[in-house]
Amino acid sequence: METIRAHSHFHAAHRQLDYEGKCAWVHGHTWRGKFVVQAERFPRIEKLDMSVDFGALKNIFKFMDHKMLISPRDTVFQQPEVFEPEGVVVIPGKNPSVENVGHYCLNEAEKVLEGLFPSKGVDYRIEVTIQETDNNFFTAEKQVTI
Ligand SMILES: [Zn+2]
Repeated sequence: METIRAHSHFHAAHRQLDYEGKCAWVHGHTWRGKFVVQAERFPRIEKLDMSVDFGALKNIFKFMDHKMLISPRDTVFQQPEVFEPEGVVVIPGKNPSVENVGHYCLNEAEKVLEGLFPSKGVDYRIEVTIQETDNNFFTAEKQVTI
């Protein structure tokens, strides 16, 4: 069994619409993201004799750095005259909660891995952990066959 771990962090803001309390207002976190990918044996890029580019996975976290994470229904931040579009990441779901940020990262990682191992018949397990604060973590995992 082989395991690839890619860790990174990003600074990003969000707010939770309809939340009763301080999370309803725009605030930021230094988020930490961790991917764990496991397969019996990852296919190798032959000329490099390596499997996964750690940078490609970490870029998923880095893409959100210094941006505003919003839900599709948060239309205020989708008005170009209010906020520059490149400074916004639209996270699927009703709110950019840690759960939805986690699933967004998991889906993006699946695309990266699909691009690396197209039609190779690889069975792998992927797990993402998003740490929002010192004490708040969310983890989701999935079994995938490419
Ligand atoms: Zn928050």
